[in-house]
Amino acid sequence: MKPFDIVIVGGGGAGLYAAMEAMKTNPALNIAVLSKVYPNRSHTSAAQGGANAALGNKAKDDTIEMHIFDTIKGSDYLADQDAVEVLCSEAPKIIRELENIGTPWSRLDDNTIAQRPFGGAGRPRCCYCADKTGHTILQTLYEQCLRKGVLFFNEYFALNLSVNGSRSRGLIAMNMKTGKVEAFPAKTVIFATGGYAKMYWNRSSNAAGNSGDGQAIAFRAGIPMKDMEFVQFHPTGLRKSGLLVTEGARGEGGYLINKDGERFMARYAKEKMELGPRDLVSRSIETEILEGRGFNSPAGKYIHLDLRHLGADLIKSRLPQIREMSLNFEGVDPIEEPIPVRPTAHYSMGGIDTDNFGRTVMDGVYAAGECACVSVHGANRLGGNSLLDILVFGRIVGHTAAEEAGKFSPATISEAELKESVDELRNRMQPSGHYERYGALREELGQTLALNVGIFRESSLLHKGIQDIAELKERFKKVRVFDSSDVFNTNLMQVLELQNMLELAETVAVGALAREESRGSHTRIDFPVRDDEKWHKHTLATLVDGKVLPGEKPVTMGRYELQERTY
Ligand SMILES: Cc1cc2nc3c(=O)[nH]c(=O)nc-3n(C[C@H](O)[C@H](O)[C@H](O)COP(=O)(O)OP(=O)(O)OC[C@H]3O[C@@H](n4cnc5c(N)ncnc54)[C@H](O)[C@@H]3O)c2cc1C
Repeated sequence: MKPFDIVIVGGGGAGLYAAMEAMKTNPALNIAVLSKVYPNRSHTSAAQGGANAALGNKAKDDTIEMHIFDTIKGSDYLADQDAVEVLCSEAPKIIRELENIGTPWSRLDDNTIAQRPFGGAGRPRCCYCADKTGHTILQTLYEQCLRKGVLFFNEYFALNLSVNGSRSRGLIAMNMKTGKVEAFPAKTVIFATGGYAKMYWNRSSNAAGNSGDGQAIAFRAGIPMKDMEFVQFHPTGLRKSGLLVTEGARGEGGYLINKDGERFMARYAKEKMELGPRDLVSRSIETEILEGRGFNSPAGKYIHLDLRHLGADLIKSRLPQIREMSLNFEGVDPIEEPIPVRPTAHYSMGGIDTDNFGRTVMDGVYAAGECACVSVHGANRLGGNSLLDILVFGRIVGHTAAEEAGKFSPATISEAELKESVDELRNRMQPSGHYERYGALREELGQTLALNVGIFRESSLLHKGIQDIAELKERFKKVRVFDSSDVFNTNLMQVLELQNMLELAETVAVGALAREESRGSHTRIDFPVRDDEKWHKHTLATLVDGKVLPGEKPVTMGRYELQERTY
């Protein structure tokens, strides 16, 4: 195949924005986007609530400065302040740019772009398209990419980076339609493969494909992961499935109620109540449940999200998808009954370590979106800041790679290297002797993570989690693929995803054990206080000779000093 200037792995918001911007920067470049699902089915399409920008449409006194401060405070002071400044200053521009290329934002009565309150934000600044924001953004970007002539390789599964010393030669991927392993030689590779929270399996709001493939590929190639211990639990997942009820439901005025009929958030966040940041609201719900004030059911314990007082008109116009999901997955109509909810693993704050331009330590390899850790979210992401992150940093990385591709000479990937990847897959596909089934391992991984590496963490639980993961990795060696077909071998793909999740799960659990403090989403019962002296730093995890080597990196400070975080 002709060498590419840029190969982008991922057709979500980050990947598509990167492709669009790279084309705009230099239309002569040869750019490919690979995606294991059709781009408009990427997890970005599931984002309901919206994207933050201090437009000042709803609250006239909102400012970019306030957005910056809310984000840094929300991150429990672990975000890099220069990166947050970029995120928030670019926000109004990017929302308007999306509007100019066709995103149908919801409107206020004066016809300006509508904004709703979101957790941890001092002003209502979350811009939305009803409760289908991600879907509409993704459609807009996909149309623009097709129009500009971006080459799409849909239903291609990325397997490995091809590496030559300190630089990459491109990517090796499998065509899912034919099973053929193909080389994508490229001057630059951008990872935009989304998050890894699906490792919590059915206690997760994520799409099945959010298995952290890009992070695992980069990790295997020796690129460090940053802050992997920080996994965000969203307060309101549906009780049975973990599917998400957007924060927009509380933004519109929904209440959280325990079995005694109390709006219990008054105990934990007097001022912000249900609109406290996610880490705080999730801990509050879990505490209510642990202390016996939750509801019981065969499908698990839960509390109520009550929207009834908002009225049928508002629910139907602003939260139509939430109503549909509650009806389909819980048999509950929120106009008439409260929705049963419980916190659900939702977002990966950690990811591929990058600078503010999306560069990694490996020449020619970049990352953006949820798979990257820039870091703008630190120890806890604010709702509405991730769509913003993927757009802002998707655009930046697209521009950077387009500018820098010329620095690198065209690469080739040898037949011998391609054959190695093929042989690896073939070995998995020959059942013999004692074997394990991936489905059981995937369930067990989710269970041990939810139980031992979940919202509340503690040394003995984390040791147990690490031990379980090590045993699962050992058992994984015996997992075999029983479908021998070359065409859409979903069995093979799920096994590969499980391998990626297992590799990353170890970094999450090891990082959580090492970090002896409580900060943002990471709560240690045995170290309940934030310890700035010892732990105000990013952690790194690098794979060296098959072992996870821990490292660290300072947090970039700016004008905001460390403060106690109260709401
Ligand atoms: C239910 C839900 C609701 C959310 N709501 C909001 C919200 O309201 N506001 C907000 O700010 N954030 C929200 N988020 C978070 C936000 O949507 C995500 O962080 C963001 O969309 C991630 O975008 P991305 O482009 O990084 O990755 P994704 O959209 O996840 O896309 C990943 C892409 O990578 C591809 N890929 C992955 N692995 C491979 C592989 N091995 N080979 C080839 N391709 C691969 C996939 O096919 C896909 O195209 C929500 C998240 C969820 C789960």
